[in-house]
Amino acid sequence: MEIITSTKAMQERAIELKKQGHSIGFTPTMGFLHEGHLKLVKHSSQQNDITVMSIFVNPLQFGPNEDFDAYPRDVERDKKLADNAGVSILFLPERSDMYPNEPSFEINVAKRTDVLCGRSRPGHFNGVATILIKLFNIIMPEKVYFGMKDAQQVAVVDSLIKDFNFPIHLIPVETEREEDGLARSSRNVYLSDEERNQAPHLYKGLQKGAEAIRNGEINPATVIHIVEEYIKTNTNGKIDYIELLSFPDLEALNKVHGKIIIALAVKFSKARLIDNIILETQS
Ligand code: AMP
Repeated sequence: MEIITSTKAMQERAIELKKQGHSIGFTPTMGFLHEGHLKLVKHSSQQNDITVMSIFVNPLQFGPNEDFDAYPRDVERDKKLADNAGVSILFLPERSDMYPNEPSFEINVAKRTDVLCGRSRPGHFNGVATILIKLFNIIMPEKVYFGMKDAQQVAVVDSLIKDFNFPIHLIPVETEREEDGLARSSRNVYLSDEERNQAPHLYKGLQKGAEAIRNGEINPATVIHIVEEYIKTNTNGKIDYIELLSFPDLEALNKVHGKIIIALAVKFSKARLIDNIILETQS
């Protein structure tokens, strides 16, 4: 596995690889790798000659009271995991190289962000879009791999690629879970033992909502209420949001129909966890 730390060297390498006719698959991450990240790599290495993974904890996508400083980091461990998983190039840029001076442009994501994490984390997706525009231009991938755990991110990246005509194909990858159903996340290390035992109930709550829909429930508020009651009964987490929306447009619905997402964010003492379930319902 090659390790590249400079943006210029990464871009030159990408240009060279493309000249040689190699296809590039790319998976951006913030590191502290787990099976979810490695699943993206697996898909990429099956479909491309070269798989690039970036690790960069992007300050722009964290709010002032969020966990940028506390975000878990372990680059040495990540290097081994990435290498074993089949990453061809690990891109580890420095903050001063990614953001060398005060930017002249501000990216504002205008759609798909007034709900879910976009609402509870103002500016988050502007930061995500900014770093992705930069990374897409540095790495020039044909295919990019994003996890469905961050379904709103998938919806925003889908718009980003279409709105700015990036010649990139977005591949969403299903959420990788622990055996008990908890979605794998770098932030899971911050759960206490008690919280770790409760955390699988987030997905179970979502499944209760999905089950109600499969049993004929069409009122979004009722579905949300079922999920909410389940989570309140089974965890001490503080619910940030539970929403049912169309997917990928992320619009509110009067009645459950078409492709929908039920998504939630729940705050435990040191970790805010998100999860979702997507269903194709009858129109
Ligand atoms: P992060 O390092 O948390 O920014 O995540 C980097 C990429 O990995 C994003 O596309 C995430 O959606 C994806 N990812 C994170 N957790 C999982 C998971 N449990 N299953 C699948 N993909 C994931």
